[in-house]
Amino acid sequence: MTNNILQAFLEPQLQALQDKGLYNTIDTMEGPNGAIIKINGMDLINLSSNNYLGFSNDARLKEKAIAATEAYGVGAGAVRTINGTMTIHNVLEAKLAEFKHTEAAIAFQSGFNCNMGAISAIMTKNDAIISDELNHASIIDGCRLSGAKVLRAKHQDMDDLRRVAKEATESGRYEKLMYITDGVFSMDGDIAKIPEIVEIAEEFGLLTYIDDAHGSGVLGGGAGTVKHFGLSDKIDLQIGTLSKAIGAVGGYVAGSQQLIDWLKVRARPFLFSTSLTPATAAACIEAIDIMEHDPERLTKLWDNGTYLKQGLANLGFDIGHSETPITPCIIGDEKLTQQFSCRLFEEGVYAKSIVFPTVPKGTGRVRNMPTSVHTKEMLDVVIAVYEKIGKELNVIN
Ligand SMILES: *Cc1c(COP(=O)(O)O)cnc(C)c1O
Repeated sequence: MTNNILQAFLEPQLQALQDKGLYNTIDTMEGPNGAIIKINGMDLINLSSNNYLGFSNDARLKEKAIAATEAYGVGAGAVRTINGTMTIHNVLEAKLAEFKHTEAAIAFQSGFNCNMGAISAIMTKNDAIISDELNHASIIDGCRLSGAKVLRAKHQDMDDLRRVAKEATESGRYEKLMYITDGVFSMDGDIAKIPEIVEIAEEFGLLTYIDDAHGSGVLGGGAGTVKHFGLSDKIDLQIGTLSKAIGAVGGYVAGSQQLIDWLKVRARPFLFSTSLTPATAAACIEAIDIMEHDPERLTKLWDNGTYLKQGLANLGFDIGHSETPITPCIIGDEKLTQQFSCRLFEEGVYAKSIVFPTVPKGTGRVRNMPTSVHTKEMLDVVIAVYEKIGKELNVIN
């Protein structure tokens, strides 16, 4: 029986994780995602989602998703290269390109798939990729898949980027060089230094690749980090996700028409995996429409971010150096961080602890993700709960 082999492989490892308290159990949400979620029958103030603009359960998006299901059905039927593209996918891609101020865009089934598809379609074993050391797991995997040499650059350290770029260029070993970075780093909320990146890229002839999963819908009037700096024509590949601020699921690459033409024939998740559902495409189109016409949501998101940061900082918490609504509360010790997060849960606040290896040892944190649909009253409750638990666990005086 092969399942004995599987059991022999899995049982000791699962047990070891459980013994070390590292086995992650997943909570069940008994309803939609939003500012309030229900878990174990309890209503909790949710500070764990990437649903920045509250789109995941938005009435207008749901209406469009239902209408698209009526018009197109529940599935696309096959990959687009074989069974064709639905009109609604073309509409979505045109909308994304316009929104990102690029010539063209291509939608994938997830942000993760964008990195799998795009990096490996452009970079080969004759090339090198310079990658910020804190880049997202999907970038790391996409780089590996490409077979290119990966050169790590210190986090947001432009001198180090320059040094690595110089060494790689002078070695004469690589056909192409690319620099890849997150647009916004989700654990600290810091923003990639795009103007300096562009300067270094021009000096050393680097291709530039910004994965803006956490910047899209948040910065640059929603269009993202690159737009925030007004450098849309300077970045070769921009990645965005439809699963965070846009509230649904999916991802996209935006760039030149030539780039998109190439990805449509070479990006493997596009070629060999069925496209987004019509409902998802319709919901995403509506979300972008709303962002373009109702900047109030973004204002609310940023106001809430500022309000929460201020409230926690005033109590004496270390909130790091976030430049976006992402609000880390750095506690340090891993066990204490986990205990803090458990106590928050008991007091009705859902914010997860993030510890090593996701962040460096000794920088355990509770990460708070306020959204545009949180009210000031909710945030006041959160701040009061933080004060209570902070004092109880001696994190603040
Ligand atoms: C979340 C995230 C992804 C994955 O996006 P999905 O659409 O959820 O697959 C990719 N890159 C970065 C930087 C992310 O933060």
